Amino acid sequence: MKIVMLGAPGAGKGTQARMISEKYGIPQISTGDIFRANIRNQTELGQKAKSYMDQGLLVPDELTLDLIMDRLSQDDCAKGYILDGFPRTIPQAEALTKALEAHDTKIDYAIDVEVPDENIVERMSGRRSCPICGATYHIRYNAPVKEGICDECGAELTQREDDKAETVQKRLSVYHASTQPLIEYYRTQGCMYSVDGTKPMDDVFNDICAILN
Ligand code: ADP
Ligand code: ADP
Ligand code: ZN
Repeated sequence: MKIVMLGAPGAGKGTQARMISEKYGIPQISTGDIFRANIRNQTELGQKAKSYMDQGLLVPDELTLDLIMDRLSQDDCAKGYILDGFPRTIPQAEALTKALEAHDTKIDYAIDVEVPDENIVERMSGRRSCPICGATYHIRYNAPVKEGICDECGAELTQREDDKAETVQKRLSVYHASTQPLIEYYRTQGCMYSVDGTKPMDDVFNDICAILN
């Protein structure tokens, strides 16, 4: 089962992808997480990606595509995966379709987590992330048991640099210009579904499971 999560930054793609991954036993592949790991480990890719991410811009397709194609060729992807944050542009989607076609396969479900722009700023300003295991929390909607500490691994939670209000607006406009057109792209491919992302996270998850079952 190959799934693409679509939706604005902060819509809840990562939250849902993590739950799908646990239930269905397929890996969650987040390009944002991979870039952030590269920044933390001070790789060359990380240094290049950081300058774009800090400004709320997309990392160029040529950097992103090599990275994702390499990841998808790993053994744990054989039974499927959930792409969280990729593709984000039409050229990325086309490259993915082409790579899958070469193996006689395709994306089974593209799921748009719909959340209006008005709600996004609150989602992102309250987001706290674990820099170690990637778990995501919200100070109001999904608070950790102990304030500021990751439930899963005990690390100190941080606010992402690009979740500050100034950058959020930029990311939203980039989303509308470059990523939203993917909804039409996957509709044409006949695998487009959407869920109401303003519901509580467990309800959103139930709606997604109803699509997948
Ligand atoms: P969010 O979860 O808020 O949507 P991500 O963690 O997916 O954010 O992405 C953070 C940043 O990483 C993006 O703003 C962008 O700079 C970069 N990025 C992640 N995925 C991609 C991609 N597929 N193409 C280009 N840039 C990407
Ligand atoms: P994305 O991966 O699309 O950027 P996240 O999954 O990181 O989004 O969610 C963004 C923020 O909103 C996080 O703080 C998360 O805990 C919170 N969140 C996710 N889903 C919901 C929901 N259905 N209702 C309220 N808050 C949510
Ligand atoms: Zn953690």
